[in-house]
Amino acid sequence: MNGTLFQWLEAQLESLKEQNLYKPLVVMETPSEARITVNGKKGVINLSSNNYLGLANHPKVKEAAIRAIERWGAGAGAVRPIIGTMSLHMELERRLAAFKHVEAALVFQSGFTANAGVIPTITDAEDVILTDELNHASIIDGVRLSKAQRKIYKHLDMNALEEALKESQGAKKRLIITDGVFSMDGDVAPLKEIVELAERYDAAVMVDDAHGSGVMGGGRGTAYHYGVHERIDIQLGTLSKAVGVMGGYIAGSARLIDWLTQRARPFLFSTAQPPAVVAAVLAAIELMETDSSLTERLWENTRYWKEGLRKLGFDTGVSVTPITPVMVGDEGRAQQLQRGLFEEGVMALAIVYPTVAKGKARVRTMPSAMHSKADLDDALMAFEKVGKRLGII
Ligand code: PMP
Repeated sequence: MNGTLFQWLEAQLESLKEQNLYKPLVVMETPSEARITVNGKKGVINLSSNNYLGLANHPKVKEAAIRAIERWGAGAGAVRPIIGTMSLHMELERRLAAFKHVEAALVFQSGFTANAGVIPTITDAEDVILTDELNHASIIDGVRLSKAQRKIYKHLDMNALEEALKESQGAKKRLIITDGVFSMDGDVAPLKEIVELAERYDAAVMVDDAHGSGVMGGGRGTAYHYGVHERIDIQLGTLSKAVGVMGGYIAGSARLIDWLTQRARPFLFSTAQPPAVVAAVLAAIELMETDSSLTERLWENTRYWKEGLRKLGFDTGVSVTPITPVMVGDEGRAQQLQRGLFEEGVMALAIVYPTVAKGKARVRTMPSAMHSKADLDDALMAFEKVGKRLGII
């Protein structure tokens, strides 16, 4: 390896370790379920997965993937606009549009590439993007890929957003972008107010609902929850969290989807999703639409979990969704909490800078529809024991 690069890498890694920011990979040896085997330890309660509804290892979802491999093979063979589009992809897009109650949808390889695909494709140098300061990294990268000017507004602050709209009156187009559910704090964007401001100032609105899809609005997302899905121009969803598989999509008007099909770079230049993935997603959506007990169980567990933590004296921040941060502050202590919990058989990952601001470290927990009350009670006992030992409660 080139010596200069080697030394640079070594110094970067050393610096991360000194700041308690170095995170070794945690390795699962079993499927994503309520209890998992991690780094050789069996029966660990999994509170860090985005598999909100337990669909990642659902028998019907797996069966659909297996059947699709037999019928269609393992890969799509090309990018979508060359000869990678199968009728299965088209079926999924029709299904997603119907599920979201919009005209059309376009599937990408992931939520990340959907953001990187849509934002630079619908904005140019004469435009202004108004973006919440806590928006997800993939929105930030999508905005970086755009030539538009950017204005970052204070988290959820509608006065700040209005101010930014007033200051950007000269722009050709304006695009407001927000997460629906914020992935680190579990709070929700005030979409009604955002839509009203957007209409008053002639701006378009895009919502990244990666954590709202399958969770909010009976599964149809945050915009649907607020009844504003017809007034939001662009909804982004992921197929990798509640849907349990892999992929992302944009839902919106037929014209928007038509344009993205012609110009969105990850759609044009990265191979189509494999058929097994598409079929598994279709089966997962079918389950979400027909079995409301999945979302009901998710929310019942969410209430039980949050109440349990609060009764023990933990600070769970401003969350109103299954994403439940246990606020710690200091990076080192958050990692001590993670390690202590793991010793007690609980997997809950510390989230530290740069994922969240310095001094806002936390252990992020996510109950799911898969957990039993016994799982959650055992996890609460572990939190109590380790939280007391570290002086967090
Ligand atoms: N947007 C948000 C708000 C997310 O939390 C995530 C996932 N971490 C993504 C986009 C990316 O989605 P995916 O994992 O499907 O790439």
